[in-house]
Amino acid sequence: MNPSILRTDGPGRFGGYGGQFVPETLVPCLQELDEARLAAAADPSFAAELALLSADYAGRPTPLYRARRLEQAWAPRARLYLKREDLNHTGSHKINNCLGQILLAVRMGKTRIVAETGAGQHGVATATVCALAGLECVVYMGQVDVARQAPNVARMRLLGAQVVTVTAGSATLKDATSEAIRDWVTNVKGTHYIIGSTVGPHPYPTLVRDFQAVIGREARAQILAKEGRLPDRVIACVGGGSNALGIFSGFLDDPVGLFGVEAAGSGLGHSQALGRGRPGVLHGSYSYLMQDDEGQVIPAHSVAAGLDYPGVGPEHSHLKDSARADYRGVDDAAALAACAEVSRLEGIIPALESSHALAFCKEQLAKEDPHAAPLVIVNLSGRGDKDLAGLTEATP
Ligand SMILES: *Cc1c(COP(=O)(O)O)cnc(C)c1O
Repeated sequence: MNPSILRTDGPGRFGGYGGQFVPETLVPCLQELDEARLAAAADPSFAAELALLSADYAGRPTPLYRARRLEQAWAPRARLYLKREDLNHTGSHKINNCLGQILLAVRMGKTRIVAETGAGQHGVATATVCALAGLECVVYMGQVDVARQAPNVARMRLLGAQVVTVTAGSATLKDATSEAIRDWVTNVKGTHYIIGSTVGPHPYPTLVRDFQAVIGREARAQILAKEGRLPDRVIACVGGGSNALGIFSGFLDDPVGLFGVEAAGSGLGHSQALGRGRPGVLHGSYSYLMQDDEGQVIPAHSVAAGLDYPGVGPEHSHLKDSARADYRGVDDAAALAACAEVSRLEGIIPALESSHALAFCKEQLAKEDPHAAPLVIVNLSGRGDKDLAGLTEATP
């Protein structure tokens, strides 16, 4: 983007991160969205409508499941719970955000939705809520992802969405996001952009976090009901950061350790904006970013398409700098191994994204004093069916 048309002030700051680095043409619609979001938050009928759809359409509340066979295998004194976002309609936490945003879009009188997708999970969730609301849906997806996530492409088309293949750049999520923003700038009047994570210009990082915060509210109440105490730690994978912020936000004010797990990838590259990047601007927001010495964005790499993004939400940058949360890396091989192990021990096939959080949980338990009896929650952000083609190649 041309720096002369960037706006750098504005609200939505997380300790200096975030903001609105966008062309002037987008400022009025971000303003409109911010006003719609605040009006909806003040209107009990919005919360009631969202709660009804979350329950009857998406299947909330999701269970908090005690994984006893994983405890046995990993640390017999530990108590390990999985927050089952994989059981949501469409198979991941993405539907929480999409239901909230489609209700906002309808309130704003929008008739057309654009979205970006990497793994295809956000595209499927967006196509789903567009079918539900009867709105036109256009999903931008990188060519590489279209090839490796074919079942989700078929799903989106069946749901009535138009899937646009993006060949620019690395032809993955970053490029799909740029195309979706370009479409939005061009068609801003009747179009709403449903961003898929806690990224982008204000108010998106706040808006998406607030729609995902239901995960943390439920998990907090569920663990108190089951164990009578708060967990020692909460672990979630971090792509853009929405499932992590969703669960973290339930425990931010508590003495609970918060761990975000980024993809350390393989010899081909990584996706550790927080662990190995430095602050910069991408997609309208200032946050940790994978970039070279010239400030060029380094392409991300992960076996998990949903983690394959060189940026990260600005609130995570603030949580990192303030040391409220810890960010660690797990590589492709460890995530694949955790996926296979959890499948066999628990009868739950986790998404490769979520498998990063599970692998870190295992690593951390292995290093712990054997007399410790930690209480741990891992956010199981999605189910692994979408990864089957890649998994059967990767597992013996
Ligand atoms: C999209 C996705 C992620 C990564 O996105 P966040 O915004 O970081 O949550 C993680 N897990 C699954 C299953 C996903 O579909």
